[in-house]
Amino acid sequence: MPTMKAIVKTKPAPGAELIETETPSPGPDDVLVKVLASSICGTDLHIFQWNDWARKRIKHIPQILGHEVCGEIIEIGANVNHDFLKIGDIISAETHIGCGWCYECRTGNAHICLNSRIFGVDIHGVFAEFCVVPAANAWVLEKKITKDFGSVMEPLGNAVHTALAGPVAGCTVLVTGCGPIGIMAVAVSRICGATKIFATEINEYRLQLAKKMGADIALNPQKDNVRDTIREETGDLGVDVVLEMSGNAGAINDAIKVLRPGGRFSLLGLPDQPLKLDLNEIIFKYLTIQGINGRRMFDTWYQSSRFLSSGRLDLSPLITHRMRLEEFEKGMELMETGNCGKVLLYP
Ligand SMILES: [Zn+2]
Ligand SMILES: [Zn+2]
Repeated sequence: MPTMKAIVKTKPAPGAELIETETPSPGPDDVLVKVLASSICGTDLHIFQWNDWARKRIKHIPQILGHEVCGEIIEIGANVNHDFLKIGDIISAETHIGCGWCYECRTGNAHICLNSRIFGVDIHGVFAEFCVVPAANAWVLEKKITKDFGSVMEPLGNAVHTALAGPVAGCTVLVTGCGPIGIMAVAVSRICGATKIFATEINEYRLQLAKKMGADIALNPQKDNVRDTIREETGDLGVDVVLEMSGNAGAINDAIKVLRPGGRFSLLGLPDQPLKLDLNEIIFKYLTIQGINGRRMFDTWYQSSRFLSSGRLDLSPLITHRMRLEEFEKGMELMETGNCGKVLLYP
């Protein structure tokens, strides 16, 4: 039985191990992918740390971690008998695996499939030399998209989905929380014609990165007065759009205060507990509040792909660290400090 290197959650406890494990073989509807680059997500960090969410959510151990990937197709399942996927194609992957049959899947909303499974969460992930991807989830990269950018197309899709869930052109935009997805949301808002972009973040490294990627005014809520600054900078009106990426109660309540009446509040960040909101203010201000989950399949992928292949969107500054699979613990530590953009792992 051939084996491969993989980062595996071997026991229900903090940490993970790089071990030799069986190389997977694709089912009839899958492709086998040789991983070229993968990228660490906050979700991977939570599973690594074994926080409350991970403890409740992760059912299968041992499990290979990771879901953000770029790789080369090296084998194709028997049922995949069309020309859209070929051996040698370089792909990224949609990580939400829809069932294809539930109400949401059958009405064009597979990103909120009622039976969704996720790489590295419900099934084996991509922090390995090889991984299996359902053919329907493979996204063939245009030639101009590098493997590094390919490996971050999944979180980029989160940013694109959130930013473009309403108008951006000619708008003032506030992005609350500048982890990698927040920073990408800044960049996407910029290229889509936002006229003034505010970014808030408590980590200075990431705040600087947000500036580099297109934020006009970068604010640290621990030092700066976010509400007053935004009021002054928008002629007392408030911002048209807030893209919430932090899940932080303070940031969410600030956002409600600084949105203009009739503004759009799109939320992707996940609070770790229920929070108190002033519904009166939301109602009187006539705000539109929307939850965002995943990426639309595959509208968001077409948009993300075009942003990258056209050269309009350059994610280079965001990819701050590159390391071998063997160094994953260093990568996790870095993610814990927040003093990084995207951390890529190469097998
Ligand atoms: Zn992710
Ligand atoms: Zn479904």
